[in-house]
Amino acid sequence: MQLGAMQDWSMRVTHLIDHAAREYGHREIVSRWADGSETRTDWAGIRHDALRMTQALRAAGIAKGDRIATLAMNHSRHLVTWYGAVGVGGVLHTVNPRLFDEQLNYIVNHAEDRVLLYDAVFQPIIDRLREQWPCVNTYVCFDPPPGSDVLGFEEWIGAHDGNTTWAEGDERDPCMLCYTSGTTGNPKGVLYEHRSTMLHAMTGVAPNFFDFDSRSVMLPIVPMFHAASWGLPWAGTIPGIKFVYSAVNDPAVLCELMDREGVTHSAGVPTVWLAMFGYLDSIGKDVRDVGKIGTAIIGGSAAPRFMIERLMKNGVRVAHAWGMTETSPIGTTGAYPYNWDEMGFEERVDLVSKQGRPAFGVELRCVDLDDPGKVLPRDGAASGALQIRGPWVIKRYFKAEADATAAEQWFDTGDVAVIHPDGTLQLTDRTKDVIKSGGEWISSVELENAAVGHPAVAEAAAIGISHPKWDERPILVVVKKAGVECSADDIKAHLADKVAKWWLPDAIEFVDDIPHTGTGKISKKDLRDRFRDYKLES
Ligand code: AMP
Repeated sequence: MQLGAMQDWSMRVTHLIDHAAREYGHREIVSRWADGSETRTDWAGIRHDALRMTQALRAAGIAKGDRIATLAMNHSRHLVTWYGAVGVGGVLHTVNPRLFDEQLNYIVNHAEDRVLLYDAVFQPIIDRLREQWPCVNTYVCFDPPPGSDVLGFEEWIGAHDGNTTWAEGDERDPCMLCYTSGTTGNPKGVLYEHRSTMLHAMTGVAPNFFDFDSRSVMLPIVPMFHAASWGLPWAGTIPGIKFVYSAVNDPAVLCELMDREGVTHSAGVPTVWLAMFGYLDSIGKDVRDVGKIGTAIIGGSAAPRFMIERLMKNGVRVAHAWGMTETSPIGTTGAYPYNWDEMGFEERVDLVSKQGRPAFGVELRCVDLDDPGKVLPRDGAASGALQIRGPWVIKRYFKAEADATAAEQWFDTGDVAVIHPDGTLQLTDRTKDVIKSGGEWISSVELENAAVGHPAVAEAAAIGISHPKWDERPILVVVKKAGVECSADDIKAHLADKVAKWWLPDAIEFVDDIPHTGTGKISKKDLRDRFRDYKLES
């Protein structure tokens, strides 16, 4: 049959920056740097610099498909690199500088990065590891300290005039590579395509998700090196929003920027808000005192109820979303249900405490934990292994062999969830972290969420300890807030009306710190290792 008769317009992400520069060319991009200085550019400036960067990359011998890595925080030169790298037909590889040397070593070699652009604060990483990265032949520092002899970004692109065009190619060409920091084995690469990234960006600006319009001012706290910064550098071009970037995550700096630059939107993991709350408490202010902040997109781990409550009481819309590096990362969005206006405050908080509903384009389902062939009903009760499919969901990891037996494309997320009849997702655990007691599942996440609602608890993690009768029983590991006292019984009393009686932890252990992964999540694996020889009293 004949194809349709519309124009050819390949879904390549360079269209995004062309559009922003043409339609919103003067909309500002503000960067606050690690040394406290600030710079301002705009979408037209980002495009011009990205074109200059493609010239610099060509001069460095970079060809189509080559990987261009960054080891950097959030700022405008990093944003330029996103478009410069894809503009030359390359693959942008955002490396997480918080990973351990062993992982960094593996990732850069596995990706075969040719160019590495980095922030001066990460110079020690470069100095330590560059000998082990023979694939990298060009190093460029985004913010070289005065007097240093390293190649600086402005100097590097400064030799070029921007009078060039983007590389052409297929919309299924790769454009970006992100590695997930799995808790076991080596990190795995997720290779996004131009097309998948475009579809994801277009979904991101639908009213239900980022909720942007051209007046929006976004301060993304989610790093550009984590899960494609939730797709913000791509999506933000569509309505030409103003970005305010900070290369440091100090809450005082963030609050000052939010206030001064009229920030309306922010996006980050829950711990960011914990730090902000702590700072605001210390200066006797609350979220409503910080400029115009109206939308907080929270994801990456579960947003605790007290956090949602506090933000909502301050007039902030909380979009509690779920996703993964493997899903570009949008899976669900904190969409309003049709009956939001009729809901009371508590009912709203209940809803927002769950993980939102699927974005158009992806489908979710849960299958039985013990029998993956059995798809579970969306009844708000049956909890199982969460699977997802859609055009921006991973088919296979970078350099992995195609799996000929995978007839159906459902990606196993490793999360355990319940799906409610209205489509709302409720995450209850990771498949590796659920605690099985007497044949029934206990959600470690729910125990933790309930525990962090206690005013003396800074952080909490629940793990299963083997038990002769029940197979496993939960214990709760708690870090107390500085200067606040509480006992195990206080915490148990606090939990008593929040979780089922048989879920109550058998013991509460106070510790000074809880181990985290390179992406800031609690590392249950390390915690379980620490408590390997732990004996329950009874
Ligand atoms: P990453 O690929 O590093 O972003 O990690 C993805 C994982 O983070 C998911 O599989 C979930 O386990 C967890 N996650 C993401 N968003 C949420 C959320 N809103 N609530 C609970 N866990 C989440």
